Amino acid sequence: MSESSYTIQQIAERLNAESFEVKHDTLINTLLIDSRSVVSPGTSLFFAIEAHRDGHEFIGDAYNTGVRSFVISNASYRDVFPDANFLLVPDVLLALQQLAADHRGKFDLDVVAITGSNGKTVVKEWLYQLLAADFNIVRSPKSFNSQIGVPLSVWQLSADHTLGIFEAGISKSDEMEQLATIIQPTIGILTNIGEAHAEGFSSAGKKLLEKLKLFTGVKLFVYSPDYTGGIALKDLPGERRFSWSTTVKADLEILFVEPIKGRSYIRARYKSEEIECLIPFSDRASVENGIICWATLLALDYTPQEADLRLEKLTSVNMRLTLKNGINQCSVIDDSYSADISSLAIALDFLRLQNQHVLRTLILSDLYETGKNDKDLYAEIASLLKQKQVNRLIGIGPHISESAGIFELESTFYESTQAFLENFPAMHFNNETILVKGARRFEFERISKLLTQKIHDTVMEIDLNALANNLKFYQSKLKPGVKVMAMVKAFSYGSGSFEIANLLQYHKADYLAVAYADEGISLRKAGITLPIMVMSPEPSAFEAIVKHKLEPELYNMDILKAFVDFLPDTQFSYPVHLKIDTGMHRLGFEEPDLPDLLPVLRLEEKIKVVSAFSHLAASEDARHDEFTTYQLDRFLAIVKQVRAELGYDFIRHISNTSAITRHPEAQLDMVRIGIGLYGFDSGLKSNAGLHTVGVLKTTITQIKTIGPLETVGYGRRGVLPEGGTIATVKIGYADGYRRSFGNGVGRMLVSGKPAPTIGSIAMDMCMLDITGIEAKTGDEVIVFNDQLTIGDLADQIGTIPYEILTNISQRVKRVYFYE
Ligand SMILES: *Cc1c(COP(=O)(O)O)cnc(C)c1O
Repeated sequence: MSESSYTIQQIAERLNAESFEVKHDTLINTLLIDSRSVVSPGTSLFFAIEAHRDGHEFIGDAYNTGVRSFVISNASYRDVFPDANFLLVPDVLLALQQLAADHRGKFDLDVVAITGSNGKTVVKEWLYQLLAADFNIVRSPKSFNSQIGVPLSVWQLSADHTLGIFEAGISKSDEMEQLATIIQPTIGILTNIGEAHAEGFSSAGKKLLEKLKLFTGVKLFVYSPDYTGGIALKDLPGERRFSWSTTVKADLEILFVEPIKGRSYIRARYKSEEIECLIPFSDRASVENGIICWATLLALDYTPQEADLRLEKLTSVNMRLTLKNGINQCSVIDDSYSADISSLAIALDFLRLQNQHVLRTLILSDLYETGKNDKDLYAEIASLLKQKQVNRLIGIGPHISESAGIFELESTFYESTQAFLENFPAMHFNNETILVKGARRFEFERISKLLTQKIHDTVMEIDLNALANNLKFYQSKLKPGVKVMAMVKAFSYGSGSFEIANLLQYHKADYLAVAYADEGISLRKAGITLPIMVMSPEPSAFEAIVKHKLEPELYNMDILKAFVDFLPDTQFSYPVHLKIDTGMHRLGFEEPDLPDLLPVLRLEEKIKVVSAFSHLAASEDARHDEFTTYQLDRFLAIVKQVRAELGYDFIRHISNTSAITRHPEAQLDMVRIGIGLYGFDSGLKSNAGLHTVGVLKTTITQIKTIGPLETVGYGRRGVLPEGGTIATVKIGYADGYRRSFGNGVGRMLVSGKPAPTIGSIAMDMCMLDITGIEAKTGDEVIVFNDQLTIGDLADQIGTIPYEILTNISQRVKRVYFYE
């Protein structure tokens, strides 16, 4: 293999690790920061980085997978695993960065660094597509561009590579110099400078200057003066500079861009001649990213003809995996964006995170990994499949078929996608999770189409990364040791069941909570092992609750007695949760109930109180802060009595989403996060830091021109006094788009522009006034997203975002994205 290895001794010396002793003599070639992504434990070095969670907490997990080498800053872990290597350093992240910088310094090759507010990943992937014919390229996986992502990307460099392409992103001042020392670029590219991530900086100019620190000392700098306004030419980096612009004179001066059937024809002036190119995209961002790549090719001395030939073949960079319902109770993960080892590893992690089916199948095409021969490549893949617990492989393509002997799992091979499709009717996919992963040319979309159910044209897209981000956002606001109960009631606020729970389990939520036993049962059936609290445990469901190890919330003496009576006499310490009413006046024991309650709890051995909790009535609202404090005080007073009577500890929790940031004193032992996970928190001043999780989309089925005297829809309530154009879209009140959105109250985004409803909302469809908006049948229409938020929709009809989300009916298919 072409990877570089270092002895643990060499690394310890480089990092100046304190009093290091070799306990386990080993060569290191992999740097790890996540105990869940171990592939080759024996040669991995785990960095216990403090991010949202303290990486030291996961040393045990990593050790259990076989990892024996760790970089730590907390010496106490050394004694727990005496046979492992522990490199003690003052700052673990810095150690990772130093190691990567050192590694980079060993190679003499051109390295392209890309930064900007937008477009970094696309430009990086496109340059890879454009230059792969001439170079053996190493590049950042996905959008690894952070203080952690950059060192991991650079670490992949080996002697075989002839070009590196890495992206760098910063969220705070003073981070870029560090990334520059790791990447040590020779060529710099500045992409679009927009408003993204402005918060951490005092001004736009300062932000730009900070970004430019990445390029100090580069030989060549590719940029647009449209984005460097205010900075004197002499202050720009680069021994040589190549500029492009749509507005002013530049080395590549764009004259016009003309859209032709989804493509863009671009003309420009270059070296006082007119040149042209065709880019297979028409949206603004892609056109700009295409121009940046064009400028880069020319700056690298490709002829305009050659550049045009290559640009024409660009393919879209869709790095999101989608999870959909498949035929015969299967789940299908579709990932046909790229076919290299690092993206395969990420996709396999996502496959492994799925617990809803026992069987995990991978359909994989030949991979194209530059710099590796087939034997090494497929051996590496075989060990990856073993590590990630894939049960079955279907290999498609001549190369993977030839390496059939290397794979140890159940496998079948086909020479081509066509051969697979011909055999498809005889194959029995049933109740399994199937990852479809293939290089573009294998056209695996034909396979995923066969495997997935047809999706009716209104879909809710759920961004699982955004959800994970929101969880991390709140985790970072918690005091050390505070646990998280994730609220997944009501189909996870309309977002899904096991799809969401799998992710929460993977990201180490401590508890889940559902409203009804059935919701808990479906999670158990889908393989969710986290403890699950059931908030409305009906006596008719007790049997199922116990059978599926669900934990009931007990809120009055009747339900408590009924549950205790139900439990067999042999039962001991069944976990239950005690609900205390401190002012919501919904469910829960109140202070006067304690004399009845406490003796029962003390004497009854069949149950054990694992937590006691209360619910805040108005934690988001400053006007009620006094009441919130009152609720907290009452709660603490009551649990004190319970604790004294029981004689053992239990988890105390009262915070919902908004309380986490607004009332940190109320975090206690655990918080219950609901709507915040799904990207909304009315207690925050702005939603900055939270990501939009759900996007609801529909499509235009028909477009009509309406005269001034005509009417639209039931009851003839829609009129356009001047006449105009209307579009019928496939969403109605049966999908959860409430009737109250009708007659101009609600708006949707058509071609990015707001279009009001016209007439009444019907059961399965409604009409929009799109007068003056360019649109055609089949176009996508946004009902809500990060521009038009669930908060906006709630305001339009006078409700709250919770209701908007949970109203989306089950017939609207959910599609999950992960990258
Ligand atoms: C739904 C619910 C929550 C979550 O509230 P959010 O405001 O969505 O965070 C917390 N606790 C209880 C008891 C709930 O029913």
